[in-house]
Amino acid sequence: MQKENYQNIEVLREGGLKCDNSKCDYINEKVDFNNYENWVDKPCPKCGENLLTEEDFLRATALRETIKIINSIPPEELESFSKKLPAESLEDFKQLGFFKDAEGIDDINENTESIKIALSTHNEVKAVKVEDCSDDKQEE
Ligand SMILES: [Zn+2]
Repeated sequence: MQKENYQNIEVLREGGLKCDNSKCDYINEKVDFNNYENWVDKPCPKCGENLLTEEDFLRATALRETIKIINSIPPEELESFSKKLPAESLEDFKQLGFFKDAEGIDDINENTESIKIALSTHNEVKAVKVEDCSDDKQEE
């Protein structure tokens, strides 16, 4: 049975590989997520470092599955869930390791309805950048 896809989380761009060596700037935007498997343990063409470790690959796959699950929840249900969260818990969210070091996380407040998150799946799944994209904010 095909699961519903409510786009609670919209994946704007997926795939692409970036070398994790901080001294190397190799990026291959053309790698499709579905081809990641073929890139596991392949050396970077520029510096020879491992481009995608098995763990990084598994993390990326797990993340994709999580997104699928969240997108199978009707938006009304998600909304009732978020209304149960007290305002203070927003601060707790910001302290989570997942968000803690993300650029822009301090701009997220209780009026934020929707956010854009850039994720990294290297070593751990982490938000690297957070952007408030609530409708009312866009109209300003
Ligand atoms: Zn490299």
